[in-house]
Amino acid sequence: MRRLPGRRPLGRGLPGRRLLALGAGVALATASLAAPSVPASAQAGPAKPKPRTAAADCAPAQVVGNGGFENGTSPWTASSNVIFTGGGETAHSGSRFARLGGLGRTHTDTLSQSVTLPAGCSSASLSFWLHVDTDETDQVAYDKLTAKIGTTTLGTFSNLDAADGYVKKTFDVSAYAGQTVTLTFTGAEDPSLQTSFVLDDVALDVSGGTTPPGGDSTRTPAAPSYTVNLTSDSSGGTWTGHESASFTNASATPLSEVYLRLWDNYHGSCPSSTPITVGNVTGGTAGSLEVGCTALKITLPAPLNQGQSGTVGFDLKIVVPSGADRFGRDGSYNFIGNALPVLAIRDASGWHLDPYTNNGESFYSLASDFKVTLDHPTSIAVPATGTSVDTPGSSGRTVTTATAAKVRDFAWGAGPFQKISGTSSGGVKVNVYWVSGISSSSAQSMLNTATNALDVHSSRFGAYPYGEADVILDNNFWFGGMEYPGFVLDLVSSTALAHEFAHQWWYGIVGDDEYNSPWLDEAFADYSTDLYFGDDGAGCWSNVSWASSAEKITNSMAYWDAHSSRYSTVVYGYGKCALHDLRRVLGDTAMATLLRNYAQSHWYGVSTTAEFKAAAQAATSTDLTSFWSQHRIEG
Ligand SMILES: [Zn+2]
Repeated sequence: MRRLPGRRPLGRGLPGRRLLALGAGVALATASLAAPSVPASAQAGPAKPKPRTAAADCAPAQVVGNGGFENGTSPWTASSNVIFTGGGETAHSGSRFARLGGLGRTHTDTLSQSVTLPAGCSSASLSFWLHVDTDETDQVAYDKLTAKIGTTTLGTFSNLDAADGYVKKTFDVSAYAGQTVTLTFTGAEDPSLQTSFVLDDVALDVSGGTTPPGGDSTRTPAAPSYTVNLTSDSSGGTWTGHESASFTNASATPLSEVYLRLWDNYHGSCPSSTPITVGNVTGGTAGSLEVGCTALKITLPAPLNQGQSGTVGFDLKIVVPSGADRFGRDGSYNFIGNALPVLAIRDASGWHLDPYTNNGESFYSLASDFKVTLDHPTSIAVPATGTSVDTPGSSGRTVTTATAAKVRDFAWGAGPFQKISGTSSGGVKVNVYWVSGISSSSAQSMLNTATNALDVHSSRFGAYPYGEADVILDNNFWFGGMEYPGFVLDLVSSTALAHEFAHQWWYGIVGDDEYNSPWLDEAFADYSTDLYFGDDGAGCWSNVSWASSAEKITNSMAYWDAHSSRYSTVVYGYGKCALHDLRRVLGDTAMATLLRNYAQSHWYGVSTTAEFKAAAQAATSTDLTSFWSQHRIEG
């Protein structure tokens, strides 16, 4: 959210209403919404993300050739008479098998073939059926069979494994995804008493996608992992240090370059003095700043093919400007959003290098892992995305290490905040920080809203996965609130807070291109906020009045920056009204199921308007074609 607080009827957040919307007595008020009114913990438990289906970049396959030995010896390399039939042994299937040993004298048999495990497959399982018979009688492992992949021994078997029939052996070899390695069986007998190691139906099955979640091979660089070490000045307003970003090319199209987005350079003069300064780039060659100094191209030393990984590193300096903003300094309090450079996305339409917008968000990033250390004066607190651990630094200083997994951004604050903490019924730790001038009772009230909202949103869309959430309260913000993963800037407004926490799902967990499809996060966050407050949006569509034929709920920020006075009304207001209308078409239960399944199917991934429309259409037998056009939802 990024809009003037005055546009939002804060009265909806009056305490009485809020308590009603959450209490047991609210059943009547919320029944029509099919809205759970009990915390997540009191329910059967929100579903976890369902397992991913096979990724587009990893066609499930079995990669061992002639694993049943029925088609001659190729492509195996084997000692003589290892692959055969008869000899007192029977195959597990078919008529042929491989037998190592069985001679009762000192010798070694080998059986091997080279296998290629496709890149992009997260699951790879080697299996074979093994039958061991022996003439040995001592409980000593005299004769042995070793199974290896590459140089790694997967398992060793001996005459002690002798038994009637075959036993299936299975090993996880996913570590070899993207590699060509040799699969080797070695059977060694000692001087006397035979042991036969009989193998059949050798298989190596690959499946699953590696990057990013959901097997998205369209958007790259994928699975970013950021490591950041920063040290602040005494105020927490200037930070210097180093950042590195590792990534994998998920796309079949080679990746020759990456772009860092330096969003906060919008706030500075370009190019003489930028708030975000990147230098000493390693892992590639930096170009000059583009898109108003908000994009930095780094050409990689060599193009990365699909499944290959790279790392870029750079020195980083951040200078927080004055102003109570998402990147700004209000008195002694610093708000540091969008300051860490993050990787831009290349998708089917190319690189996304959209401009910064002050009316909303331009941000579009893939779920990433962050490890950020913040070395700061002990006298200031640094609420941050992720889970933080403090350790003593040099004299008078503390090193806060914040780690976050599967988040799209990392933000923090720095200042002499006051703080209270609580834990939601669903087990999420919430820390509320506030600047001077806000009462502790207001902070306590906001803590209650925060924990309740997280639980209620969790019960509807799937459990909040990050374990912890921080809120910073400052009534000087010119906007109602601003969402970051596990980190929210907010006025003392329960409505704004419920909205920002809804963004944890709509933008955070379920990603979207916030520049080109702002309704996918804002309308969904406002709709979720209505559900939270038990507001069914009755009649809201009847008040709709379009400014022009070009005005559409699904317009991009390029349009809204040119028509900024209509952004909130249409994207937030008409957008959520459209979703209420969709609920009326589908029915409350089907709508609740739709949103829940939609969240699960895009968990940590990225959604599009077309994908939401398809999911909605699949949830009803009513043809929604006219619904979309009447509601001006295109795409
Ligand atoms: Zn919002």
